[in-house]
Amino acid sequence: MLNLERFSFGVGDRFAHQAKAQLRAFELLARDGIDVVPVWNKSNREHSFIGSQPESVRLAANNAVATLGWQKSWYVDADHIRLETVDRFVPHSDFFTIDVADSIGKHAAPEVIDDFVDRHPELIGSIAIAGIADPFQISREFVQKIAGKYLLATQEAGQIYRHICDVKGEANFVAEVSMDETDAPQTPPELLIILVALADQRIRLQTIAPKFTGRFNKGVDYVGDLAQFEREFNDDLAVIAHATSRYGLPSNLKLSVHSGSDKFSIYPIIRRALNRTGAGLHLKTAGTTWLEELIGLSEAGGDGLTLAKEIYAYSLDHIDELCAPYASVIDIDRARLPSLSEVSGYTGTRLANSLRHIPSHPEFNAHMRQLLHVAFKVAAKQGTRFLDLLQSNEPIVSKQVTDNIYLRHMRPLFVE
Ligand SMILES: [Zn+2]
Repeated sequence: MLNLERFSFGVGDRFAHQAKAQLRAFELLARDGIDVVPVWNKSNREHSFIGSQPESVRLAANNAVATLGWQKSWYVDADHIRLETVDRFVPHSDFFTIDVADSIGKHAAPEVIDDFVDRHPELIGSIAIAGIADPFQISREFVQKIAGKYLLATQEAGQIYRHICDVKGEANFVAEVSMDETDAPQTPPELLIILVALADQRIRLQTIAPKFTGRFNKGVDYVGDLAQFEREFNDDLAVIAHATSRYGLPSNLKLSVHSGSDKFSIYPIIRRALNRTGAGLHLKTAGTTWLEELIGLSEAGGDGLTLAKEIYAYSLDHIDELCAPYASVIDIDRARLPSLSEVSGYTGTRLANSLRHIPSHPEFNAHMRQLLHVAFKVAAKQGTRFLDLLQSNEPIVSKQVTDNIYLRHMRPLFVE
């Protein structure tokens, strides 16, 4: 049986050159006494943008694990898969993020909803949950409404789960269900009802990614009400503990935080909650490793810096088309993007400082960072020119990758 460890951390590696640098961050953290296992994730969407195959993620990870002699577990996540996209991932993945967000709000048949409500009278009334001060007051109408909104999605999750079980065997993979790519956050009482519905589907669910309150924009800090996030996160942990003890869900079921990179202001909240409760965590980061590559090439100077400036120039020129697919998860103020002539005069360190996510640095520019975050396709188009530069500047690039994960993410999340 594959049982996901208490702490796991998802890393993405669009161009499949940084697995070793990423794994080094986990080694450094282990030296601090904190065991976190790596999960290399890549979605179907990302594979199609880059033109890569799921097998490449396992190969790169495998190579890093062998080179560094990593002895603990590691996983390859088929990220945000659906029934129509899962198959090519199955041989190469042992972690599946089953994405049913598209079905949220589509109603199951009325008799299915009624049946769910009838089978769960314990969800109605005053529900006391250890760790939450005020019991939930849940009416039959509320259960009906939430079942109406989520039951079809949970049935679909069950269908995808059983499909993976059929071809892979239930013991051979970790299942996550994600509901984060939708409009409205799920409140803790909603999460309870969703977990009950997923338990009904007999999914051996080890992590769940709800949509939390606030904005989880790509590559920048959390924007939202921190006190509200803290309440919600703590309540979600309590709901999970409640659901695992009553509904036969795996005892290691934990929360998964998607778009988790760079959310510096919520890491201390999460760390306190984990320390207080002993709960586990999966935090997924993905696309920002590419920014570290760009920062490394800038620092390297020479041809690396030239390419980094070319990529900025092209991105500025094609800003509309690059940003359109990400409109809901980026906030760029175009007036704060430096002009081409300005950037052409930048030293490598100046450009690196603009992009490196150190909010207190006077040269940091969150708008440039977000634009370049969505500009990885521009580098992909460069093909071997970009990849060869990554190779020839490996030491300085990999240092950026390791430092970013270890110093700015793992330490504040798990240690200090
Ligand atoms: Zn997600």
